[in-house]
Amino acid sequence: MKRLLINIHTLATMNETDEIISGAYVSIDDNVIEEVGPGEPSDLSPYDEIIDLSGHVVIPGLVNTHHHLYQSLFRNVREVASAKLFDWLTYLYGLWEKLDNEAIYVSTKVAVYEMMKSGVTTTTDMLYLHPKGKERFIDSEIEGAAECGIRFHPTRGSMSLSEKDGGLPPDSVVQTHEQIMEDSRRLIERFHDPRKLSMLRIALAPCSPFSVKESSLAETVELAEEYDVLLHTHLAETRDEEEFCLSNHGLRPVDYMKKVGWLNRRVWFAHVVWVNDSDIRLLSESDCGIAHCPSSNMRLGSGIAPIRKMLDNGLRVGLAVDGSASNDTGNMLLEARNMLLLQRVKEGAEALTPYEALRAATIGGASVLRMDDYTGSIDPGKAADLIAFNLNRIEFAGGVSEPVGSLIMCDAKQADFVMINGKVRIKEGQFLDKGIDDLVKRHNEISLRLVKLAS
Ligand SMILES: [Zn+2]
Repeated sequence: MKRLLINIHTLATMNETDEIISGAYVSIDDNVIEEVGPGEPSDLSPYDEIIDLSGHVVIPGLVNTHHHLYQSLFRNVREVASAKLFDWLTYLYGLWEKLDNEAIYVSTKVAVYEMMKSGVTTTTDMLYLHPKGKERFIDSEIEGAAECGIRFHPTRGSMSLSEKDGGLPPDSVVQTHEQIMEDSRRLIERFHDPRKLSMLRIALAPCSPFSVKESSLAETVELAEEYDVLLHTHLAETRDEEEFCLSNHGLRPVDYMKKVGWLNRRVWFAHVVWVNDSDIRLLSESDCGIAHCPSSNMRLGSGIAPIRKMLDNGLRVGLAVDGSASNDTGNMLLEARNMLLLQRVKEGAEALTPYEALRAATIGGASVLRMDDYTGSIDPGKAADLIAFNLNRIEFAGGVSEPVGSLIMCDAKQADFVMINGKVRIKEGQFLDKGIDDLVKRHNEISLRLVKLAS
């Protein structure tokens, strides 16, 4: 099937030349971008569908580099609405251990659709909860995400260090190292598709230094090398974590990662707030990626990540919404705006441009997930992951002289058009999938049941 997007007001390719085209077209062959240019093709007869995007800005689909999709069931839980990370986690573990496969499946779909509304076409996830007696949660989320049509790079999360061994989570939600390794192998062998244009890849993700044994971290690197998959974890999120690493390992978080073999090009870290200049240099030399989570860092009072310095040191920086229990939204446009504003709070008005924030939300995220050879920019040969915003909406009024930057500086709210892998998912601001209202109803029933169970 051949599709043509025409009359595009402004197209930001986000490619290596940072090309911005006024009055553009994009031709698409099935799921791949064929041609991009100004004007329109001389012959329109080969196209099965022509979509007129007059008055729209088109950019690549947004890439979310860190999430816990199940947490959309636990938004704004009153008891921890104003808690810092360790207190927040300690309370919520008790609720999370009641999850079941239906809860995972429904919350995955709700969280994915919510992100898609803001223009996300690729997301990762870290599902580290595997309560005793419950199985195959990740299979349920993969099923849900596939039904939504998102490009998905979930990670097999894990926790092996419980309270009794000096960790933070209760014994009821941690697994043995053997269980984790066995299930990791099973998931990679069953689901991981390494090919270009892949809609599903698997990475391995021991949860954090305070919930995973040192031996698990080291052995997970070996498994990732064996299967050639990526590695992900939380790092240097809070001062509490730094104290934990110092008192348990005698090392600060980045040095601890070095010790367990985690400073390499397979790895991307979430948060990375409490790092100094030499940590940043080390992360850069090791070619690690960063998932910056500005809203979550503000919500939990964790701190401000030194993103300007990271960019200046050549680090691959992507953006992320983080789980909805610590955000409590799944809106990537808001993350891009918060990234910019937060860096300006830290470093002054020139700290970050709107274009840099948009880069992090698109090609930056794609490079963090090592998918930048096929998504994250609008180039011939890449996947047709494209989103568009109607400049005639009230929220852009007065901002049209600088349409691309206005997506970040104004309140863009949501994408009017979303195409993922050549398939249109949102048109004129409306989902083409049906049944989303019913899904939200089901989601709320499950959420109330789980939150009430704790009280
Ligand atoms: Zn997280």
